[in-house]
Amino acid sequence: MLLTITTHATTARPATDLGFLLHKHPDRVQSFEQSFGTAHLFYPEAGEERCTAALLLEVDPQALLRSRTSVSTPDFALAQYVNDRPYATSSLFTVALGKVLRTALRGRCDARPELAATPLPLELRLPAVPCRAGAERARALFAPLGWTVAAEPVPLDPGLPGWGDSHYLSLTLTGTVRLSEALSHLYVLLPAMDGHKHYWVDETEIDKLLRAGGSDEGPGWLSGHPERDWITRRYLGRRERYVRTALARLAEADDLVEDEDADAPRVEEDGAAAPREERAASLADQRAGAVLSVLRSEEARSVIDLGCGPGRLLERLVADATLERITGVDVSTVSLEHAHRRLCKGCDPNGRGRHRPLFADAVPSRSGGQDGRPRPELLVGSVVYRDRRFEGYDAAVLMEVIEHLDPSRLPAMEEVVFGAARPRVVVVTTPNAEYNTHYEGLAEGAFRHGDHRFEWTRAEFTAWADRVAAAHGYRVRHLPVGAEHPETGAPTQMGVFTS
Ligand code: SAH
Repeated sequence: MLLTITTHATTARPATDLGFLLHKHPDRVQSFEQSFGTAHLFYPEAGEERCTAALLLEVDPQALLRSRTSVSTPDFALAQYVNDRPYATSSLFTVALGKVLRTALRGRCDARPELAATPLPLELRLPAVPCRAGAERARALFAPLGWTVAAEPVPLDPGLPGWGDSHYLSLTLTGTVRLSEALSHLYVLLPAMDGHKHYWVDETEIDKLLRAGGSDEGPGWLSGHPERDWITRRYLGRRERYVRTALARLAEADDLVEDEDADAPRVEEDGAAAPREERAASLADQRAGAVLSVLRSEEARSVIDLGCGPGRLLERLVADATLERITGVDVSTVSLEHAHRRLCKGCDPNGRGRHRPLFADAVPSRSGGQDGRPRPELLVGSVVYRDRRFEGYDAAVLMEVIEHLDPSRLPAMEEVVFGAARPRVVVVTTPNAEYNTHYEGLAEGAFRHGDHRFEWTRAEFTAWADRVAAAHGYRVRHLPVGAEHPETGAPTQMGVFTS
């Protein structure tokens, strides 16, 4: 398994600067033990004009067996012993890439920070990339990222042309790209092309994908990629639940940058077409404003925002002088990181006056930051699991969250929020499905957002809310949010539960 990275000198710098970026000196050969073999990094050429780094992975089939990584190819019985893993640029290679070149992949280069931020002329060569989807697909994956792609199928046997081609490609990518980005393209797209991983795909893969395909400033190359759904599905081993979560988070990251609502209506509230930016912010703002005014009128002093997402409501809550304690909870660590950044805007970078550290265990506290304002706590948690940290608040908010839960999980959420946490006030908002007919381009019966599991009519929401209120000893009143249409009602519906 081999990857070579070649760069040329530019007017600004010699080609050997590549060594700084890779954090590996051009004069040395370095080896790194992996559980399944050894990775070597060396420079076949290191001149002022042209410099090439090579990452070679030697797989030890015995070690592969010992490390109990499964090679799950059903093709034949000896597949565990005789397989393409030693030769093909597979997921094993990606793991080695992630380890050996971790700092380069993250785009860090303390010695030459400007170099890490600069697109460089690069040529990446990979002689044997497994890609059953074919050369065309490989082109469709890399070309939108600024690469000129040469993808040649490798013949099964060069001496016997009649045998045809294998499902391996010899891939050469040429372009002017930041090194960290180039590596992240390989990190995500090689396993996507391969289509299976040698290890069990679990939930942590979602974060890996989003980190590699994103950037610290917001959504990165993956969220705008025309093949993003295909890439996400294949990277996550076609595990649909993970795929849905990942795609929803990618959509969310898009929203954050545009400061739009995830469930943005495709028309202005009054039905007229409006520019994208204007229309969405208005419904999201109205919703947060409506929740805030309910909290004020109920005289809540402490609030827990369950499924806080990137912190749109938290930001408003922090600015409200009547609140003494504010907490945000979400299952998505990516969303919480967004919320963290949003709330930290303008904070002292040395940590004074910042809100409580991310993921801290909740310690009930009334103490504020230096300016006396409460610091919101951000917690990783799920509304479908009973959690003591949700207890002790005047109010809980579920703003645009219930429709992200599988209907079969709703009773669990009801028990956790209305049964166990039992705040005095619960505010729930959710889309009003009847209003969807006003959304241009939204097919009949389709949902506003890819991660929604259902969208309710007013009657459906009312029936659910009334039943939950009765079961747990709450009263509920219903309020519309956004401009009401005489037939369909408002775009968002809100239930205010009080005990
Ligand atoms: N309340 C925010 C975000 C709504 S999007 C707003 O209105 O702007 C829905 C959010 O619910 C996402 O951030 C998602 O990660 C979160 N979510 C989904 N299932 C969850 C669960 N079981 N527990 C907590 N949060 C969940």
